Amino acid sequence: MKSYLLMMAMTWLSFIQAACGQKHDAASSRAKLEAIPMHEKVRLSDEEWRKILTPEQFAVMRQRGTEPAFSNQCFNVHQKGTFVCAACGNPLFDSETKFESGTGWPSFNEALSGERVKIVQDISHGMIREEVTCARCDSHLGHVFNDGPPPTGLRYCMNAVALKLMQFEKATFAAGCFWGVQAAFDETKGVVKTTAGYTGGHVKNPTYEQVCSHTTGHAEAVEVEFDPAVVSYQQLLDLFWDIHDPRQKNRQGPDIGDNYRSAIFTHSAEQQTMAEASKKREESKAPGKTPIVTEIVPAPEFYPAEAYHQHYKSAHCAR
Ligand SMILES: [Zn+2]
Repeated sequence: MKSYLLMMAMTWLSFIQAACGQKHDAASSRAKLEAIPMHEKVRLSDEEWRKILTPEQFAVMRQRGTEPAFSNQCFNVHQKGTFVCAACGNPLFDSETKFESGTGWPSFNEALSGERVKIVQDISHGMIREEVTCARCDSHLGHVFNDGPPPTGLRYCMNAVALKLMQFEKATFAAGCFWGVQAAFDETKGVVKTTAGYTGGHVKNPTYEQVCSHTTGHAEAVEVEFDPAVVSYQQLLDLFWDIHDPRQKNRQGPDIGDNYRSAIFTHSAEQQTMAEASKKREESKAPGKTPIVTEIVPAPEFYPAEAYHQHYKSAHCAR
């Protein structure tokens, strides 16, 4: 009897150990994925993806499957937000570009800018189709057809299990040369997208040369999209104060000119209030010092900088 009980206990122990091991594996695969900055490619093994995705997601996204039409009703309601890759979180489509195609699969007429999706020719099943994959993790998402509504005439026919609807917020900061500022926000967990660009001036679609000529009034700035469930606006403000000297007027170190000014461009009344309170707190940390010159103003139109400026520091500088 004793040996029977001992055997039972050992069986349960090994069962619990195995279950915990699987759980740990799933957690470590997810931790590995989450440690990769959002602007970098994701390369995981099939084994790792199996631990992160549901069996249905794995079949569609990693084995190029197709879910049955009308199998997922959750996106039929007209919810607002950003549709991201269900595997890696890469933002793919704005809910504004979603339309009712009647096909039973979520359909969009435009992908988000910045090469978020990749189009690959698919000759399987005796057809020539344009396959759509996630540009960050290469997961299969669906196909794109030329029978969509204007203005693009495209129909991105996606698998619902390959998408997740998220509500992101925007923040915009100017703190000197945008290369370094963008790199700092790129490394921040919860930041899903950053764009280096120009804002706060009076010329439409300015070029880098125009902005550097100090005649357009624009500041070099970084527009940050973030998941408020992971990182708060307050945490982004704290980072903003940490990465530059807000007491230098129209310069940061060797970079001199109004295009290098310190500024917070706010996207809501709440952000304006938080930014002003945060500036006061920062000021009070060193009362005798030169006053903080950071301007805090509602965000005007933002113009993305030329492609070669995007993620420049992480692409050109050794870490
Ligand atoms: Zn992805």
